[in-house]
Amino acid sequence: MSHQSKERTLIILKPDALQRSLMGEIIQRYERIGLKLVGMKLVVPSAEHVEQHYTLDPEWRRITGEKRVKAAKAKGEVLKTEDPYEITAVILDNLKKYMTSGPVVCMVWQGAHVVEIVRKLTGGTEPRSTDVGTIRGDYVLDSYMMADADSRAIRNLVHASGSPEEAEKEIMHWFDQNELVDYRLIGEQILYDVNLDGILE
Ligand code: GDP
Ligand code: MG
Repeated sequence: MSHQSKERTLIILKPDALQRSLMGEIIQRYERIGLKLVGMKLVVPSAEHVEQHYTLDPEWRRITGEKRVKAAKAKGEVLKTEDPYEITAVILDNLKKYMTSGPVVCMVWQGAHVVEIVRKLTGGTEPRSTDVGTIRGDYVLDSYMMADADSRAIRNLVHASGSPEEAEKEIMHWFDQNELVDYRLIGEQILYDVNLDGILE
């Protein structure tokens, strides 16, 4: 197994992050924790590319549908259907409209436990209920209730891969190998090096 510090994740700044001039603020949060940016580009994705992205994980339809049912139950909200596949069919249609509405920034970040750390900094799917201190909790206020009533995707600024395996598939979906850069970040020494000799003069 390669060193922990080589783990990678895909982050997409969704169209609302760009429209609200939040790129710098959001990137700063990933940067300052000690993660390394190894790939980055501005694109306007096609609807087909977005659908493929969300369905790379064959379980995504079921899991996302079930997550919505659970959130509704917690709030005493009654849904039109509790079938996870019917729920995600609508979500996917709305997601395609959202994600193709303008440019997005795709990035690959690297570091120890990067998938888990980035999800923690990003926060949960619904900005309304996720924690203060997270990107989705601090910079936007959307809710399942409001987004579903208006038949649109939840606007939550960021996509972040859910597991290291999902991350590798997503990175290959958005990037060519030659668009990713292997390089040393000087600050990584204090995060990962076993031996700290050479600091004192
Ligand atoms: P994530 O991993 O937290 O981004 O969430 P998912 O992978 O489950 O869903 C992908 C994206 O679809 C979310 O980030 C939201 O933009 C949108 N979305 C997910 N579930 C719902 C929902 O129940 N209603 C609406 N309107 N949008 C949703
Ligand atoms: Mg997801």
